[in-house]
Amino acid sequence: MIKELIDKFYDAKQEKREKIAFYVSDAGKCPRAIWFSVKGYPKKEFDARMQRVFEHGNHTHMRIMGVLFSLGLINAVEIDIPRNEMMHGRADAIISINNEPYVVEVKSVNSIKFKKEYPDQDHMNQLQLYLYFFKIKKGILLYENKDTQELKEFIIDYDEPLVKKLFAGFNELKRQVEENITPQIPEGIEDWRCDYCPYLEECDKIEAQENEQAKK
Ligand code: SF4
Repeated sequence: MIKELIDKFYDAKQEKREKIAFYVSDAGKCPRAIWFSVKGYPKKEFDARMQRVFEHGNHTHMRIMGVLFSLGLINAVEIDIPRNEMMHGRADAIISINNEPYVVEVKSVNSIKFKKEYPDQDHMNQLQLYLYFFKIKKGILLYENKDTQELKEFIIDYDEPLVKKLFAGFNELKRQVEENITPQIPEGIEDWRCDYCPYLEECDKIEAQENEQAKK
């Protein structure tokens, strides 16, 4: 009964990897960096320190999920979004409070981000896409300050115009991948994105080539 469906699910996942597909976590990232990733450009490996930062984030997730389980709030954890042509993604959790479902995304953030009165736009974008794919109207961005372990939450309503804008961006990027057009560097891109970008070297090479061509 369900065995065939489960097998098909895995087969489809395999097929999708061979097509152009983005990740929910790409929402808000530099389109040029996503383009490099989809095109399979060589990427700089993260150093040991950065890997420890990611590990720390994973531990935070596990710890908080454990507590939500103990509280009996969890409906599902680490849930893949429904199959679709455009992207892959896995939400941290879906919980129920007073019979109302919420998508929960847990983020381990530094003190500077934690002190802000509003959530990070990249996190907001991701959550909105999960709300869209799971057809859930509300989400929670739960921040843990990695320096102090304080918690803070933002209750977020589904924002259809934002989701449409995100899809428009992904559609444009899909066209650029298909037509092999390197996206322009976004105006006003924050320095930290380039400082931590695994494709910085490739990006610089393309800029240098474009500058050379402009001189001719
Ligand atoms: S180096 Fe900066 S502009 Fe270039 S791909 Fe990376 S994030 Fe984008």
